[in-house]
Amino acid sequence: MIVAIDGPAGAGKSTVAQRLAERVGYRYLDTGAMYRALTWLAMTRDIPLGEGAKLGALAEENPITLEEGRVWIDDTDVTAAIRKSRIDRVVPVVARHPEVRAIMRTRQRELAELGDAVIEGRDIGTVVCPGADVKVYLNAERQTRAERRLAERPEIGADALATDLRIRDQSDAERMMPAQDAVQIDTTELDVEDVVSRIEQLVRERQPA
Ligand code: C5P
Repeated sequence: MIVAIDGPAGAGKSTVAQRLAERVGYRYLDTGAMYRALTWLAMTRDIPLGEGAKLGALAEENPITLEEGRVWIDDTDVTAAIRKSRIDRVVPVVARHPEVRAIMRTRQRELAELGDAVIEGRDIGTVVCPGADVKVYLNAERQTRAERRLAERPEIGADALATDLRIRDQSDAERMMPAQDAVQIDTTELDVEDVVSRIEQLVRERQPA
């Protein structure tokens, strides 16, 4: 069974998806981490982020490994490095290239085909796994999303972070459409356990008896 969890930054996807995966015993796949890892490698190699063909080739030549919560690319553990604000700011520039998205889509589908998984991203329910058994679109008010991000990136400061989030929302907007058949959950006033329980319920309802 595939559970797709999409939504904007700070909507609670990662926390919810990880806890859900633990509860139902499925793999957890973070597709944002794949775009982040590619961005890290492009920056490390000074590849201009506007060059889609070069970035597509880079993605093709450097498969990303997601293993036990760690993210690897080019034999390097980039788990911590990809969570820096310098990466946050430019991932959408890399993610917007069709050449990059085509490679990522193929890889993500291959991973999905390995079996039960909770997959989080922006376009999982619409593009990567349109046939997902459960589709959820998480959202929250921007102020709440900014506060959650601030807790993870205290070094940046509230104003800079709110600006970063607004710019990233705009750049990601075309890929942030909820699937028509997604269950939409506004997490502004909800705590993580409530959200996880709601989705777990959806998963259990669709599991074969
Ligand atoms: O979810 P996370 O904030 O880690 O995603 C980082 C960036 O990767 C997003 O802002 C977006 O630009 C890109 N992304 C994407 N499609 C996905 C997942 C992430 O374009 N499925």
